[in-house]
Amino acid sequence: MLEVITGAMEAGKTWLIYKRISDANLMGKKVQVFAYPVHKGEVVSRIGFKHDAITVPTIAEIEASLEPDVDTIAIDDAQLFDRDDLLHFCDKWRNRMTIIIAGVQLNSFGENFGAMVQLMGRAENVTVLLGVCEKCKEQNALVSQRYRDLAHTKPITKDDPKIDLRKEYYAPVCWKCYQPPL
Ligand SMILES: [Zn+2]
Repeated sequence: MLEVITGAMEAGKTWLIYKRISDANLMGKKVQVFAYPVHKGEVVSRIGFKHDAITVPTIAEIEASLEPDVDTIAIDDAQLFDRDDLLHFCDKWRNRMTIIIAGVQLNSFGENFGAMVQLMGRAENVTVLLGVCEKCKEQNALVSQRYRDLAHTKPITKDDPKIDLRKEYYAPVCWKCYQPPL
């Protein structure tokens, strides 16, 4: 089975992974958690939950780390893994275990991020979590605004690189407040 947890940054995706892991543990399932190496050996939710994770940069390394008797795996910040590798991985393993994929679905240019949008279309269960918009403070944020400065006053332009892993340059915003890079 494939489940996708997506939506804005700081919207509770890692918190929901934590709940799924806790429930799987209660059911006696063997669980493994993976994440892109922006995390160091754990996944941490903004709300304060933490869980050990295997942090590797490629799907091949996730596959090589799978325990033979694992029932449930979660992959956090899944948008950062190679799109085709992650799609193939999910197709290959989804009927043998529960796969929980969490990540943002759009990059700060408003484009599909990694495999997330394709996986949303292929999953049995999709949860879209909204964040609080940094600008209007409504609970409707679905996109990431990226800035060139820590004070969040200068939005990036088209010339900026596609991905910057420093979270402090990003904020969750709603579509009304989102300023696409010009
Ligand atoms: Zn807004």
